[in-house]
Amino acid sequence: MSTRIGQGYDVHAFSADADRPLVLGGVRIEGSAGLAGHSDADVVAHALADALLGAAGLGDLGRHFPSADQAWAGADSIGVLAEVVAKVAAAGYRVLNADCTVVAETPRLSPHTAAMATRLAAAIGAPVSVKATSTDGLGSIGRGEGIASLAVALVESTEP
Ligand SMILES: [Zn+2]
Repeated sequence: MSTRIGQGYDVHAFSADADRPLVLGGVRIEGSAGLAGHSDADVVAHALADALLGAAGLGDLGRHFPSADQAWAGADSIGVLAEVVAKVAAAGYRVLNADCTVVAETPRLSPHTAAMATRLAAAIGAPVSVKATSTDGLGSIGRGEGIASLAVALVESTEP
């Protein structure tokens, strides 16, 4: 059995559009500004998708879902994640687990991490953990200008 690891990183700025919802790990978080982006700007799902693609040696998310592609406009990133898992499976890999860290100064995300983990695990068919951290007020994330996420994923070859 051979296993491979992948990492992913994504960051989106907060949107100036007050009507844009904040969606993280497939969970809509009320009472906060949304993130700017062509899709639903779900940084956690995007970082996880990049980690899965990286583990399977399939390149990055932008290669598979170009932001110039209209099909990707306003896309639900949980659906994108399911498509990524299908690509990973087609490449001969099964997902073993994933671990994500969301970096945000605001809003406070710890009450939402369990729901994100449940939603993401259902999307990729493997255990997912989600952790939240801040940057102690440092940098652009610390100034509340956006939200970032990191992810690692482990896959194993389905070939004998
Ligand atoms: Zn993104």
